Amino acid sequence: MNTRSHNVWRLALGGLLLVSACGRASTVPAPAPVPAASATPAPAPLPNDVRWFRQSAEYRALARQAYRVAAERLPELTRGLAPHTWAVILDADETILDNSEYERRLAVGHAAYSDATWAAWVDERAAPAVPGGPEFTHQVHALGGRVVIVTNRAENLCGATRDNFAKDRIEADLVLCQPGKESDKNPRFQRVQNGTAAPGVPALTVVEWLGDNIQDFPNLTQAARHDPAALADFGRRYFILPNPMYGSWQANTAP
Ligand SMILES: [Mg+2]
Repeated sequence: MNTRSHNVWRLALGGLLLVSACGRASTVPAPAPVPAASATPAPAPLPNDVRWFRQSAEYRALARQAYRVAAERLPELTRGLAPHTWAVILDADETILDNSEYERRLAVGHAAYSDATWAAWVDERAAPAVPGGPEFTHQVHALGGRVVIVTNRAENLCGATRDNFAKDRIEADLVLCQPGKESDKNPRFQRVQNGTAAPGVPALTVVEWLGDNIQDFPNLTQAARHDPAALADFGRRYFILPNPMYGSWQANTAP
């Protein structure tokens, strides 16, 4: 039924009720006052993805598992490398910063992502760390490595992002935000490896990548889901964090 025909039926039904009520006017008690319609809609229940991320033991166990395995692989992967010549590269959002509070606000407010609300959230510097993340950065430093964060947060949000890391005791030596519209992270991965990422930062041997999006890993895309060989480094030098809330996977239209 379309909206217009729906309204016709509602009018007809209202007329019948009115006639009926008039016929019994002297015996029918006054109707209870109808509460005024609220100006704001009731909060939406949280969708399963946000609930799972924020409320499940499983999410937290998976995050700790990823960071633990990544830390345990470091001695082997860095054998023979001099201190300060090697690095790990991490993504930021939903890899080491938990933005599920922002996702919760969108859900209860029936709102969609916008650059403005995202920038306001980043400016709060209130994202907690993903479980296991800060400790991992400390372990890298204890072993003589550098922590590089390659994120597609915009350059103008990079200062607040660094503040958020510090608040969470995440030790980052270098934070590379998105330069202009260059969302592909591969050029930044290469700059870290060839020593052109930032003044004073030498070429670094990158031993591990950690991310929540397949595109956080060198030359990988959603096409890797059909290519077991492309996924062979996961658990060895690539480590993925769970994120069912959003990601490049959303553009997949087929299995
Ligand atoms: Mg991310």
